[in-house]
Amino acid sequence: MRIIPLASGSLGNATLVETARTRFLIDAGLPIDELERRLQSVGASPKSVDALFVTHRHHDHIRAATAMAARHRTRIWATPRTARALGSEAHRRIRRIAPLESFVQDDLELCAIPLSHDAPETCALRVDDGHCRYGHATDLGVFDELLIDRLGLCEALLLEFNHDRALLAAGNDPPELKARILAPTGHLANDDAAALLARLVHPRLRCVWLAHLSRRNNRPALALAAARSAWTGDAPGSAAVRIEVAEQDRTSAEFLSS
Ligand SMILES: [Zn+2]
Ligand SMILES: [Zn+2]
Repeated sequence: MRIIPLASGSLGNATLVETARTRFLIDAGLPIDELERRLQSVGASPKSVDALFVTHRHHDHIRAATAMAARHRTRIWATPRTARALGSEAHRRIRRIAPLESFVQDDLELCAIPLSHDAPETCALRVDDGHCRYGHATDLGVFDELLIDRLGLCEALLLEFNHDRALLAAGNDPPELKARILAPTGHLANDDAAALLARLVHPRLRCVWLAHLSRRNNRPALALAAARSAWTGDAPGSAAVRIEVAEQDRTSAEFLSS
């Protein structure tokens, strides 16, 4: 399996996942021309993308979804309520996904996992090719045991590390926006994300991307320090694990499963 975060943050999210038989995107939140450019830069022509899984209806995740369906006949995977936010061209190509029901695409088994966020049917995604498992979870205010259970034993993870609580508190965002970010249906703070990661650490974990960082309310160094704090007590050290911030303005380095 090859995984490449193409963009991550409130200005747009997209991640490419490939196996020998399947190539698909998780989210398409960039302008379509920029998404096409980034796909091409990693050797994936937009036409060759088999499908797009849309995690939820927010603009930074669906922006290019209908254009991908219209221009490239990309199939769309979305839950029924996320599907309602998509244009008609996407509707013609949609496969409706039920949260927590695994579905198979070529050599992959996938499962959407419900998240607590202020858009209906927001989902994380687990991808499994029988050898490697990838877990992808952004846009959640809190995590629960169900998510920990379903994202267990992943070799690669992409997890939201949205904000640092002190920076958010001291920042200039309006009080309503701060409250929205901090709500159980908002975004995950660095310390909560580290607590989630600590529950997902296991000896075969090899790569962790810290995702959806807030430009105003976070710093890469703070998110990285929080993530490293997930390895404590009896857990094997983080030295063997690649931990990186998924970038907003450019594609991140790929992960190739062994
Ligand atoms: Zn988002
Ligand atoms: Zn969102």
